[in-house]
Amino acid sequence: MAPVVYPTTNLTATEQMCLERGEGIYVFDDKGNKYIEGLAGLWCTSLGYDNKEVIAAITDQLNTLPFSHTFGGKTHQPLIDLAEKLAAMVPVDDAYIFFGNSGSDANDSHYKMLRYYFNAIGKPEKRKIITRERGYHGVTVAAGSLTSLPANLAHFDAPVEALSILRTDAPHYYTGRKGNETEAQFVDRILQNLEDQILAEDPDTIAAMIMEPITGASGVIVPPEGYYEKLQALLRKHGILVWADEVITGFGRTGADFGCTTMGIKPDLMTFAKQLSSAYFPISASVIPGWMYKEMVAPSNEVGVFGHGYTYSGHPAACAAALKTLEIYERDNLFGHAAEVGDYLQAELRRIFTDHPLVGEVRGKGLIAALELVSNKTTGATIAGGKGGAVAVKACQDNGVILRAVAGNALAFCPPLIITKPEIDDMLTRVKTALDTSYESLKAEGLL
Ligand code: PMP
Repeated sequence: MAPVVYPTTNLTATEQMCLERGEGIYVFDDKGNKYIEGLAGLWCTSLGYDNKEVIAAITDQLNTLPFSHTFGGKTHQPLIDLAEKLAAMVPVDDAYIFFGNSGSDANDSHYKMLRYYFNAIGKPEKRKIITRERGYHGVTVAAGSLTSLPANLAHFDAPVEALSILRTDAPHYYTGRKGNETEAQFVDRILQNLEDQILAEDPDTIAAMIMEPITGASGVIVPPEGYYEKLQALLRKHGILVWADEVITGFGRTGADFGCTTMGIKPDLMTFAKQLSSAYFPISASVIPGWMYKEMVAPSNEVGVFGHGYTYSGHPAACAAALKTLEIYERDNLFGHAAEVGDYLQAELRRIFTDHPLVGEVRGKGLIAALELVSNKTTGATIAGGKGGAVAVKACQDNGVILRAVAGNALAFCPPLIITKPEIDDMLTRVKTALDTSYESLKAEGLL
């Protein structure tokens, strides 16, 4: 094995897939095997693997101006164009945008800008951030503490106490309901828990609540009807800002421009990465409202600078990649396409897998979905040690489809936005075969 500390990997594992090239929704390994990339890499390769226009935009930019930082009075046209374009797209009034390199650092930037803002307006005590159980927001120090998945916290001494992070219930009815509770009762109960917590902590000490409109890495949770409406009313009542982490759901993924649109969220802050450039170049964006930006000016003047920024904030090639990606989304009506094929994916997943003996719940919206694999369809009991997810992912791979098991036994789908209906048919036929064999092998192992 090469001397690499592989990210988010079991460091004892020796099996690896070495990818060599990509084409459309497909990738090919070094043994010549062809796979459908059913998770768009890591929820990011929206335009697939051979978009010549984005590649040309990047190489043109590299040939013209391969680098410019954006500190202390420097700017460049691709950055200006991208900021103006994004500001016009997002449902945030008078939006200002801080650029970074990854979803994690974008969330850290938001965390710091919130502190900066509340210090600036003389409310330094308004510092706590609410996050949800099963939320995923990245792995840098602040983002890693906002994440609630055990593997991202354990052994890292996270969450970092000084960050003042509060955790509230995950809005997942299937795994979180109590007894015969209805969806509406479930929503009311978890939001009552949240209000109790807000009052116990004192609303004046809470800055914002971060949320993925639909979660990704924690199992593709689509909150029940009514949840976001009531949640936002509660947060507004207590003066807590709504921070939407759209790193996965941004740009057509849920069948609309943003997950916020699909789920009826009016955000104050938004985080983007991944599909912002279709992953052809790393770039992220932390969007804040103009009223927040305006208050950040005075302290920056007092100290001399707004003292936060990365060498690669607004990298010209990254901006060129993002600009071209956004242009293609618009020109080719890819959000409309995602809505159409997304409805088809959701319908076909339900038609094919609702009655499958290994599947407890089929969930998702647009082109993001998951099958919850269970040991008992009636009770919804889980499969020990995430073994269901691991076996199914391997079987899918053996059948030419790359998927990812998240939160143990949720088999996640998030194909490139360019996928077509025949390609969805092909993918699901292969997954059906894989789940049939997974069911037999898990049964033989005594896990069902
Ligand atoms: N937020 C969300 C919702 C994510 O899904 C991810 C990555 N999967 C991140 C943040 C972190 O992004 P990155 O891996 O680019 O740091």
